[in-house]
Amino acid sequence: MIETLAAARPRRIVWTGAGMPASDGAGVKLLRIIGQPALPDLDPFLMLDAFGSDDPTAYIAGFPSHPHRGFETVTYMLAGRMRHKDDAGNEGLLGPGSVQWMTAGRGIVHSEMPEQSEGLMQGFQLWVNLPAKDKMTAPRYQDIAADKVPTVDLGGGGSARVLAGEIGGVRGPVDPGATQPIFLDITLGAGAATGVALPENHNAFAYVFEGEARVGEPGTALAVGRIGVLSTGGEARLASEAGARLILVAGMPLREPVARYGPFVMNTKAELMQAFDDFRNGKF
Ligand code: FE
Repeated sequence: MIETLAAARPRRIVWTGAGMPASDGAGVKLLRIIGQPALPDLDPFLMLDAFGSDDPTAYIAGFPSHPHRGFETVTYMLAGRMRHKDDAGNEGLLGPGSVQWMTAGRGIVHSEMPEQSEGLMQGFQLWVNLPAKDKMTAPRYQDIAADKVPTVDLGGGGSARVLAGEIGGVRGPVDPGATQPIFLDITLGAGAATGVALPENHNAFAYVFEGEARVGEPGTALAVGRIGVLSTGGEARLASEAGARLILVAGMPLREPVARYGPFVMNTKAELMQAFDDFRNGKF
């Protein structure tokens, strides 16, 4: 008799919730999806913010000069333009469909300011933790233009822009770090029924930003503005009656202690104190 390994069971939704209205930077209005009391983190993800407004007063003040240490910040723009600059002289312009993957490592001081005074500004910022061994690595920016992001046909009426990771033989442009992140911007047409196979032990979530989707097996309805945390397992099944857009993000959990305060995320309180000292002493 031939024994075969059963394929990993499809993932199911284990928790759903909505973003919490918040304000960050110099007063940018946003929805905090991960990093709110109901969902403080989802290892290795520390924070997910969605911003989206055509009212300039909600975004015009931007994110003036501020530090980061110990993790990665990922900015994915859907609409609008944002300019980033850092104290080492790096500068870049983020436009619609582009992604910036910044590894803060041992420390960076940067600003992210709107490059527009009217019109829609929409996108996401995701914080991805770094393992202890990489927290003090050299800082790095990966600025990726929209036309460098490939699209893969998922079959069944779905397609995905692959920002990071590999799906169906299509590899995203982000050079991944230790958490092997997968970041997909998925479009489901009306009547779509498809799925995405994810590495079995990656933690994963879906966040719907247009329409309504059914996610997981059995399918849990996620309306616009809702996040669904998936169990570990194999495929994440996705369906939609009238069409939807969502991000599907997965990463390898680090299972390390987290000591965080504001823009610093380390493993111990002592390292956190050191981060404050180093920042105060201009050592970033
Ligand atoms: Fe920042």
